[in-house]
Amino acid sequence: PEISNKIAAGEVIQRPSSVVKELLDNSIDAGADHIKIVIQNAGRTLIQVVDNGSGIGKEDIRLCFEQHATSKIQDMDDLFRVRTLGFRGEAMASIASVAQVTLKTKRHEDDMGYKYEIWGGEEKSFEPAAVEAGTSVAVRNLFFNVRARRQFLKTDATEFRHILKTVQQAALANPDIGFELIADTDTIYDLPKEQSMKERISGMFGKSYKASLIKFREETSYLTVHGILADPKLTKRSRGEQFIFVNGRPIQHRWLTHTILSIYDTWTGEKDYPFYAIFLEVDPKQVDVNVHPAKEEVKFEDERSMIKLTKSVVKKALNEQFL
Ligand code: ADP
Ligand code: MG
Repeated sequence: PEISNKIAAGEVIQRPSSVVKELLDNSIDAGADHIKIVIQNAGRTLIQVVDNGSGIGKEDIRLCFEQHATSKIQDMDDLFRVRTLGFRGEAMASIASVAQVTLKTKRHEDDMGYKYEIWGGEEKSFEPAAVEAGTSVAVRNLFFNVRARRQFLKTDATEFRHILKTVQQAALANPDIGFELIADTDTIYDLPKEQSMKERISGMFGKSYKASLIKFREETSYLTVHGILADPKLTKRSRGEQFIFVNGRPIQHRWLTHTILSIYDTWTGEKDYPFYAIFLEVDPKQVDVNVHPAKEEVKFEDERSMIKLTKSVVKKALNEQFL
């Protein structure tokens, strides 16, 4: 395998949840309306994502695993208009360089599908196969050829927590898509497609959430903020149930997180971590999604206005509900 792929893999693929994220992004980009995720041993031995999306044509299968092969952008200008989740053409090549990958795919319009195997960047097999329309990617023995990475992984519980969060992010951003999550022998989620936001949230976090959810929405010429938050008095507190999305991508944003949590603090007079999901929609030109290869840290052209608007919307929603 080429050294450069292994190095790139280190940036994009840090742990099992990074694989889950990249595969889910691809299934979503492929227009799937049902996605099944199968995990074994917290993703160490198996991560499989099965979708009913577009599928991949025979002549494009090898290309998927080439560095910087993306079907999603044509020129650099497109980078600023990206609406698909993927655009770098890095993920599949990176994953294949550090794992044993089996891809099965068939386009809806084709009679025959294909099975392609690639281990540590080396092609193992490529043959016609009877498969369902859509794409299945099975990633086995992650980091089998990168001892240092393998040793760097945390406990199964921690790695699984990261996977769970990744699936939750995808399922919240796409309530129209059905998601199944199976871990070892347990069905963790079986969420039907075309759910309302409230159904999706209570389907994942528990029925008790349903009654406590408050929706909000505000639009300016620069930014649309909408989302849902939980009454801190009615839901149990749990760190890790706070979600922020920009143009459908899950992001981390310290300043915004701090701002929202401090509203809750002044509200309840104690440190609280209630559920919230905040969706920000902006012109892609106004946000730089390129600051980190894993695409999590996002920088806004005008951070201050974004914070100010979001803060006022959330405050208003809480006040209207409870004063
Ligand atoms: P990117 O998503 O940035 O384009 P990836 O390395 O993630 O790059 O994927 C490479 C290409 O493989 C994609 O552009 C897409 O054409 C194809 N691909 C990967 N996964 C799927 C899938 N589940 N369904 C359809 N096409 C896929
Ligand atoms: Mg991708």
